[in-house]
Amino acid sequence: MRLINETSYDSKWIKPFLQKIVKSEGLDHSEYVVHITNRRGRYSKLKGCAGYAYHRKIWWDRYKIKNKYYVKLKIPTKLFDANSVFKVMVHELAHTRGLRHKDMINITKIKIPSFVETFKTETF
Ligand SMILES: [Zn+2]
Repeated sequence: MRLINETSYDSKWIKPFLQKIVKSEGLDHSEYVVHITNRRGRYSKLKGCAGYAYHRKIWWDRYKIKNKYYVKLKIPTKLFDANSVFKVMVHELAHTRGLRHKDMINITKIKIPSFVETFKTETF
């Protein structure tokens, strides 16, 4: 997995977590580019996290992406909520597998596996 990190969070800390999520979904992390950016404010349901992804692999010169799945995650500047990051990531990974909203369960109902618990909510 390649991480494009435009947040205040340390790549050494956040990358293994995101990579583990990709693996836990049974996907090949070498096929993924994950782009994280900061976002101001907190919003109720997913603690300010949001994201998007494409249904197919992409090419994007600006970031030197060559035929990879691309997932964008927006994470609040101050609050890192591991459960919310997990849910958004799993949802976006489902899009890269070609699933659409009608084929998915509601994002808030995604179950949290135990490894996420080790990444407790931290405020920076
Ligand atoms: Zn979606």
